[in-house]
Amino acid sequence: MWKRVQESASLWSFESINQVGPMQKFAPDFRFARQVRCSPNHDERMLSADMLLLHYTGMTSTADAIERLCDPEAKVSSHYVVEEDGNVLQLVPESRRAWHAGLSSWDGVSDTNSRSIGIEIANPGHSYGYPDFPEAQIVAVIALCRDIVERHCIRAECVLAHSDVAPQRKLDPGEKFPWARLHGAGVGAWVTPSPTRPGTGLAPGDGGPDVAELQAALRRYGYGIEASGVYDDVTAAVVTAFQRHFRAACIDGRADRSTIETLQALLAASDRGR
Ligand SMILES: [Zn+2]
Repeated sequence: MWKRVQESASLWSFESINQVGPMQKFAPDFRFARQVRCSPNHDERMLSADMLLLHYTGMTSTADAIERLCDPEAKVSSHYVVEEDGNVLQLVPESRRAWHAGLSSWDGVSDTNSRSIGIEIANPGHSYGYPDFPEAQIVAVIALCRDIVERHCIRAECVLAHSDVAPQRKLDPGEKFPWARLHGAGVGAWVTPSPTRPGTGLAPGDGGPDVAELQAALRRYGYGIEASGVYDDVTAAVVTAFQRHFRAACIDGRADRSTIETLQALLAASDRGR
C-alpha cells in the first residue's frame, strides 16, 4: 500500500512537471535556482537539448522583463533569468521547449528552440547604454552554464549567442559578454583572437572564390550562410556576429586577416575544421 502511494505521488509530480499551464509548479533543474516562476510560454521539444543559447533581456527593468517572459500574450520565454545580483530564476522546465530564439539557424537547423536551453541575462542592452555585466551576475551565469553543459553533454561549439543564430536580427548578449572567461571555466569555444593589423581583407561588395571560401568556413562552423561568392548583407551580418563573439576588438562586418585567422583557428580547435 505504502509503495503504491509513493508511486502515485511520484507520478503526480512527474505529470505536474510536464503539464502546460500557468499555475503548474515544477522542481528547478538547477539546484541553485532560488526561485521558480512558471511561464505558460512553452511546448514540446522536437529535438533533445544540445545547445545553450545566451541572451540579454534588453529592457531597463528586470522585473518588467520577467513579467513579459511569463505573459501569455507576449508568447516569449526562456528557461532561466539571471538577475544583476546573481539571483537565478527558472521559468520553464528544461524538458520543455521555451520560446526565446525566434527566426534562427545553426548547423542547418532552424528550430533552435527545440534543441536549446535559453538563459536571459538581465541587461538593458545596446538600446539603453549597454552597461557592463556585474561580477556577481557573471559568476552565477558561469555556474548555471557549467551545470547545464555537464548535465546535457553540450559541446563547446554549441554554447552560443543569440546573435550567432540570428545575426541579421540580434546583438545579444553582446561584445561585453566574457566568452573567454566562460571558456576558461569549461563552457564554450574560444581561441585567442589573431591580432588586428592594417590591411583590407574582404568587405561588403566583394565577390569571388575568396568570399565563397570565407562563407563556406563560416557555414562549416555552424552559421546560417550560403557559399554564394557574393559578400552580401547576410555575409556582413554573419561576420559582424562572429566578431561580436570571437574577435570583439573591431566589429565592422569586414573580414580582415585577423577575423579570417581567428575563424580558421576556431575551426582547427574543433572537429569542424576537418
Ligand atoms: Zn535574445
